[in-house]
Amino acid sequence: MRFHSFEHLLNCPECGAKVSLQQDHFQCTNHSCNITYPIYYGVPVFISNKNEVFQQEDFNTPEAPAIFFGNSKNPVINFLRKLRPDVTLNYTSKINYAKIADRLRNIESPRILVIGGSIDGTGMSILKQQLPQQTIMVESDVAQGPNTNIIFDAHHIPFDANTFDLVIVQAVLEHVLDPFQCVKEIERVLNENGIVYAETPFMQQVHGGKYDFHRFTDLGHRRLFRNFEEIDRGLVAGPGSSLAWSLRYFFLSFAFNKTIDRIISYGSSFFVFWLKYFDYLLNHNKGACDGACGLYFIGVKKTGYVLPDHVLLQQYKGYRS
Ligand SMILES: [Zn+2]
Repeated sequence: MRFHSFEHLLNCPECGAKVSLQQDHFQCTNHSCNITYPIYYGVPVFISNKNEVFQQEDFNTPEAPAIFFGNSKNPVINFLRKLRPDVTLNYTSKINYAKIADRLRNIESPRILVIGGSIDGTGMSILKQQLPQQTIMVESDVAQGPNTNIIFDAHHIPFDANTFDLVIVQAVLEHVLDPFQCVKEIERVLNENGIVYAETPFMQQVHGGKYDFHRFTDLGHRRLFRNFEEIDRGLVAGPGSSLAWSLRYFFLSFAFNKTIDRIISYGSSFFVFWLKYFDYLLNHNKGACDGACGLYFIGVKKTGYVLPDHVLLQQYKGYRS
């Protein structure tokens, strides 16, 4: 079972009490709570029965919903999808993961929590290659997937305070109902001096169907992490990628049924993907921040630290003031 390396760290997402592993499920040890958490396909499902969005039974399937991976049972469709060029240029994540791996080097057996980690995020393989052997890697999601070793809702992370040395939330916070609550949880489960790595879109259209709720400007994103000292922040992808996204969704707005939508979605990528290469030129410009496609933040938890709002405002990078 892939959860054995961290099962001793788990607790009840509803009440925070310890859980005990029974034959085929976990049980909350707090008698007034007493919720059970099933294990489906070797993956513990730490979804409370009070959760309004997800049911435990949603995960009693070996496959993730196609919306997560875009995979299909039809090999022709999978082949066509591989041919389709990406409209986002992201050369930043790899650089960031290499920096983060450097910082973890001094920790003998680091504990890492990936939220939204059912598959590797862009550039994450760089981090994984450089991790010490004794690393405890918790890869969570609200979907079964090749990496998923636990399922929970990031609004209630089922771990004690001060558990992890690194928490990764890559392209996730736009998909949660309350990103402020999720960041509070991330802060709680991080050790003192623990690192958070977040990538969140800014100028991107709706891409997760109904599970897509938020976008952040550079300062909005920084304020979301105001209880963290900044190590670095910047663009994941720039205005070239934003323009490619915009044109694609302009074309998509002509669709009058799902089939046409799929055809335009596929075909438009070939027309607009080249725009992303402007990002090599534009990402370094100060003005690019206001039109960025996505942003990243790397921060460190220092208890008691809060970035004052008047200092936040001084950190605006663009020319619009
Ligand atoms: Zn409980």
